Amino acid sequence: MQKTVLITGANRGIGLQTAMELAKREFRVFVGSRDPRSGADAAAKVGSNADLLVIDVADSESISAGTRALADKTDRLDVLINNAGIYPDRGVSVLDVTRARMVETFQTNTFGPIEVTQACLPLLRKSAAARVINVSSGYGQLDGLSPSVASYCLSKLALNGVTIMLDRALRNERISINSVCPGWVRTEMGGADADRSVEEGASTIVWLASEAPASLSGKFFRDRKEIPW
Ligand code: NDP
Repeated sequence: MQKTVLITGANRGIGLQTAMELAKREFRVFVGSRDPRSGADAAAKVGSNADLLVIDVADSESISAGTRALADKTDRLDVLINNAGIYPDRGVSVLDVTRARMVETFQTNTFGPIEVTQACLPLLRKSAAARVINVSSGYGQLDGLSPSVASYCLSKLALNGVTIMLDRALRNERISINSVCPGWVRTEMGGADADRSVEEGASTIVWLASEAPASLSGKFFRDRKEIPW
């Protein structure tokens, strides 16, 4: 049976690369994008196995409209990839970061993944073995917290907490949930100097969505290996 995947923020960067690779593996791909135009372009690039799903993960109404539209298109979701993210505070010290900046970052990077997962649960529960993948960062590791990237680091640290909690809450169901760090990747976020291509950045996400043992859950991965929180 053809597997289904929703990837948030799949109109560019690591999300788009992941969408293209999973389409090659015969997944039906729901290309999540808050912007319909770039989302439609991305879905066309992904190919005939792709559908655009308009979803802004920082907006509760958009999440509920998007997941209602998803339920009209499929009766089951096998994989949810919470990939959308923002990195607005390069060089903003924890000594100066504003409450408004922290709220903005958490809305997308932390609260979004919780709410999208909640909204997708009815469809995930219909899968024989569902997987949720939270795209986190080494900046969210306890020893990776940088005082000059304050809101981003805190939001990814908290996202890892979301992974731990959802794993505990869903332990008795056939749903695995993990965090992944893609490494430093050449995207708009990572910049041109980053040491990894988008293919390398997407690799562990694609593995977790497809070939990784379904028994792996409640863990943090980079390069297909478990890493410390
Ligand atoms: P990009 O900046 O290239 O892409 C980010 C994506 O997220 C875009 O599609 C963007 O959409 C989308 N997005 C942002 N806010 C929202 C929102 N509110 N709702 C829906 N979509 C949204 O980043 P990357 O591809 O590099 O990053 C992907 C993930 O990987 C992120 O979670 C990031 O934190 C993580 N990561 C990246 C690293 C890197 O070096 N690149 C390192 C570690 C982690 P739009 O085009 O509309 O802005």
